[in-house]
Amino acid sequence: MPTAVLVHCEDCSYEETFDSLRAARMAVDDHERATAHGLDWYIGGLSGGVERAAADAGVCGREGCANPDSPLLDREAARSTGGSSTK
Ligand SMILES: [Zn+2]
Repeated sequence: MPTAVLVHCEDCSYEETFDSLRAARMAVDDHERATAHGLDWYIGGLSGGVERAAADAGVCGREGCANPDSPLLDREAARSTGGSSTK
């Protein structure tokens, strides 16, 4: 299932749809750098904070990295840094 990403600029009438996050991010980057406009983007009909979180988390370029609230991660970290070698 392709991801449809709508990029929309509130400061001008720029609006374009991309079929990949990467292409959309590049377009947003480009437009913001060239015009200093503020763009919104909507992924697959979603809107709100989801795409912003995705944008932030997307820095590393891997979707799997975008999960900072996983309780498993915390538990693993706590266990390995706790120094409790009770067995
Ligand atoms: Zn613009």
